[in-house]
Amino acid sequence: MKIVMLGAPGAGKGTQADMIADMFSIPHISTGDIFRENIKNGTELGAKAKGYMDKGELVPDELVCDLVVDRIQQDDCVKGYILDGFPRTIPQANALEEALKAIGQKLDYAIDIEVPDENIISRMSGRRSCTGCNAVYHVVYNPPKTEGICDKCGGKLVLRDDDKPETVKNRLNVYHEQTQPLIDFYKGTGVLHEVDGTQTMEKVFADIKNVIGA
Ligand code: AMP
Repeated sequence: MKIVMLGAPGAGKGTQADMIADMFSIPHISTGDIFRENIKNGTELGAKAKGYMDKGELVPDELVCDLVVDRIQQDDCVKGYILDGFPRTIPQANALEEALKAIGQKLDYAIDIEVPDENIISRMSGRRSCTGCNAVYHVVYNPPKTEGICDKCGGKLVLRDDDKPETVKNRLNVYHEQTQPLIDFYKGTGVLHEVDGTQTMEKVFADIKNVIGA
């Protein structure tokens, strides 16, 4: 089961990817999480990515493509994986297609979670992310059991700098210009499925399960 999650920042890709990953016992690979881990650990990759991320811009393709191509060939990916936040540009999608072809694999589904821009900005201001394990909550739609504390690891929950309204507007512009064209790309390869992301988390998950026949 090889799945790519598409959708604007804040559409709920990460939350749904986590639920699918749990259900199929396959890894949830989030490039944003990989960069944030690298920043936390003070790596060279983290230092290169940070400036772009803080401004809400995309990290250059060359810093992300090889990293993902390596990751999907690790042992835990034999039964499949869910890519969340990658690809984000047409060159990244092409790099993924080529890498998959070279290892005799192909994507099963590209799932686009659709949420209008108006909803995104208000959603993002309520989003809280764990500084320990990167789990994502929402103060209204998906609150943790104890305010400010991660259910999974007990870490502290914060509003990420790049989830602040001024950066979110830039991330949305970047999404429309560079990432939205992937919807037509995956329509063209026949794997695209669209789900209505304005519904409850449970209903979105039910719709995704319908798509993947689970
Ligand atoms: P995310 O958590 O997926 O919203 O990613 C946070 C930030 O990491 C993005 O705004 C980008 O700066 C960077 N990033 C994550 N994935 C990619 C990617 N595939 N290509 C370029 N930049 C990325």
